[in-house]
Amino acid sequence: SNSNLDDFEKLAVLGRGNGGTVYKVRHRPTRAIYALKVLKFGEDTERVQQQALREVEILKRVDSGFIVMCHGVFENGFADTDGGGEVCYFMEYMEGGSLHNLLQKHHRLSEDAISSIARSVLQGLNYLHTMQIVHRDIKPSNLLINSKGETKIADFGVSGVVAGTAKELYGSCMGTCAYMSPERIDPERWDGIYSDGCAGDVWSLGLVVMECCIGHFPLINPGEKRDWVTLMCAISFEETREMPETASAELRSFVRRCLHRNWRSRGTVKELLRHPFVTKFQNSAEKQLHYYVSCS
Ligand code: ATP
Ligand code: MG
Repeated sequence: SNSNLDDFEKLAVLGRGNGGTVYKVRHRPTRAIYALKVLKFGEDTERVQQQALREVEILKRVDSGFIVMCHGVFENGFADTDGGGEVCYFMEYMEGGSLHNLLQKHHRLSEDAISSIARSVLQGLNYLHTMQIVHRDIKPSNLLINSKGETKIADFGVSGVVAGTAKELYGSCMGTCAYMSPERIDPERWDGIYSDGCAGDVWSLGLVVMECCIGHFPLINPGEKRDWVTLMCAISFEETREMPETASAELRSFVRRCLHRNWRSRGTVKELLRHPFVTKFQNSAEKQLHYYVSCS
């Protein structure tokens, strides 16, 4: 952390999100590899910048094997010419990329791999919720996997608060709102003002788990077109889609507990950590996820 930004060499772009680009970088003095996320701000966005800095504060505070570790933050590191500023931070490099990347490659995952992902995310959420932090953006591109087959949560809504053009904001809504719970989308109908938000993270996890099983985002059928208004309505009003009969009873029950539209009846993180789908594979599961990562 005594390092200078100049000590890092950019090796590749790992991905681009809303307002941020993630690079694979090498720390020249130690040859260690990290991921560097660079968040850019527009000129008129002091408030936005403040918010991003607060998010980075969260990142620096969390320390768990189930959360992607932040190794350091640089403010205005590469301060640029167009009047905007930037914040960048170093993370541990997750060799397997995101669950989104993994699903693009393998389409579907086996139940023991899904169980491993669910267990890690629940342990990460349990840690965060204990620290009074609600993630609010659990989705495949924010779940990262390392070469050991471990899954960790990334991205504390940092991307969500960074300024963007109207189009980018729309894009971010599509990306982020898709996994949003009914009580967040429609607080009046679903009594959202009484929820502390933790149940919303469970809903998102339920959609992620279902997606890993059926091979596509569960609320939109393959080939079906839905704009975000119809999607929001579907989340608030439509019956939750059923899991296929081919899935195990444990997996179907797990998803049903996560996707209860009434957040008060939804499974809690502590309850779900004891769910048979999460406990039944215990040892073999990381191996299975490791297999998926190593074939890429
Ligand atoms: P959003 O802006 O909505 O969060 P996103 O999650 O795709 O979208 P980023 O969070 O900026 O965007 O991350 C972009 C991609 O970079 C990720 O999806 C992942 O593939 C890759 N990535 C991010 N952090 C790391 C990391 N620590 N190690 C390896 N790859 C990473
Ligand atoms: Mg992200």
